[in-house]
Amino acid sequence: MRASRIAAGYGARVAIAEPGRFGGTCVNVGCIPKKLFSYAAHWREEFEVARAYGWTAGEPRFDWRTLLASKDREIARLNGVYERLLADAGVAILRSRASVRDAHTVEADGRAYSAKHILVATGSWPQLPAIPGCEHAITSNEAFFLEQLPRRALLVGGSYIAVEFASIFNGLGVETTLAYRGKRLLRGFDGEIGEHLAEEMAKKGVAIRLESNPSGIEKAADGLRVQFEGGSEGEFDLVMFATGRTPNTANLGLDAAGVALAEDGAVVVDRFSRSSVDSIHAIGDVTNRMQLTPVATAEAMWLAKTLFRGEPTPVDHENVPTAVFANPNVAVVGLSEESARERYGAVDVYKTSFRALKLSLTDKQERTFMKLVVDRASQRVVGAHMIGADAGEIIQGVAIAVKLGATKAQFDATIGIHPTVAEEFVTLREKAA
Ligand code: NDP
Repeated sequence: MRASRIAAGYGARVAIAEPGRFGGTCVNVGCIPKKLFSYAAHWREEFEVARAYGWTAGEPRFDWRTLLASKDREIARLNGVYERLLADAGVAILRSRASVRDAHTVEADGRAYSAKHILVATGSWPQLPAIPGCEHAITSNEAFFLEQLPRRALLVGGSYIAVEFASIFNGLGVETTLAYRGKRLLRGFDGEIGEHLAEEMAKKGVAIRLESNPSGIEKAADGLRVQFEGGSEGEFDLVMFATGRTPNTANLGLDAAGVALAEDGAVVVDRFSRSSVDSIHAIGDVTNRMQLTPVATAEAMWLAKTLFRGEPTPVDHENVPTAVFANPNVAVVGLSEESARERYGAVDVYKTSFRALKLSLTDKQERTFMKLVVDRASQRVVGAHMIGADAGEIIQGVAIAVKLGATKAQFDATIGIHPTVAEEFVTLREKAA
């Protein structure tokens, strides 16, 4: 969608083929409805905090059907907005699946269309390990349309989707277990982030099983019985796998057109998102570079500039900030301490952990965690990490400084906004390492 609109804006004649709803995973079964669910789940604690601030109201009750209906209305509205934006930009809309016939021909709507450039932006699809009984489990695709909330849910995986949905279900009152095969959640993130997140989620009631992985699922009288590797068992009403997403390249005719695919099915592209066939490009999840919406839309804009504005613009995947909308939120930009040590050798680390002022009137023990990683030689801040309320909102601002190469001294020269949580990022004085 973004590539179509921007390319049309630069004067290209564009057609887009989409048999389903506009907006892709993000709008329909990803970021947007997930964040709405996440807001819903956070209310549970907000009611408790409100009491400490003197508010009394009736006993809060949650109605899943109301949330689903409100969410569906909002997503339908967005689908309409996106379709209108495309039409207004002059993009021809083909309500059909498409496949590539050769370097300059696409089949859609039972017709062949010729094009100077073809863009593959078909996204990705959740993958499940093929264990016995995996057909009884769901993925995030189905989680957005459950008829009813389960009483007991098992989330499998230890990354974005698993921790986000574990927090959502837990917040909505579901007895929630998260099973992850590794030793620490959020592999690839700073090690302390994975550790602290597990502690905070456990405090809020999520049962976290590390080094634990299901080996089979069967229907039981009352729900689903799950066997775990090593022999233990558990009963749940819902099992959801969040074990990664694979690129959608099957049946697109890419192989036959000579487009090189990686082992996982991803379209192999260069720094300009060009595939092995000069006239065919690919962006977003289907290239499996960074499965993040804003990265995909940035790739779209860089590509449109390259092809239609005469400004060859390579992708820039450095210092991409990201948030995991677990409860509490996680957000980071730049390098983990581990990666920074690998890249720069000597690093300075500054960190803090504290109970936020908002919780001081309550008995809640949630701790906010913040960490800066600084390249010792240049004194540039090369990583900023946070677990705590609104971490995504806070790191977005910090990301500008990191992207611009700000030094620790420049962070320190910035006046804090008091009293906020975010001010800690400019008042960290004590070196932790
Ligand atoms: P990820 O690819 O991030 O992680 C997959 C998780 O599943 C890892 O913990 C992995 O373990 C585990 N896993 C993989 N295969 C198996 C298996 N066979 N058995 C058991 N466990 C397995 O996947 P997600 O599904 O969480 O999310 C997909 C992507 O979508 C994310 O990487 C992210 O880029 C994007 N996303 C972004 C969001 C955001 O921006 N807030 C929200 C949701 C998704 P291990 O670590 O051991 O490999």
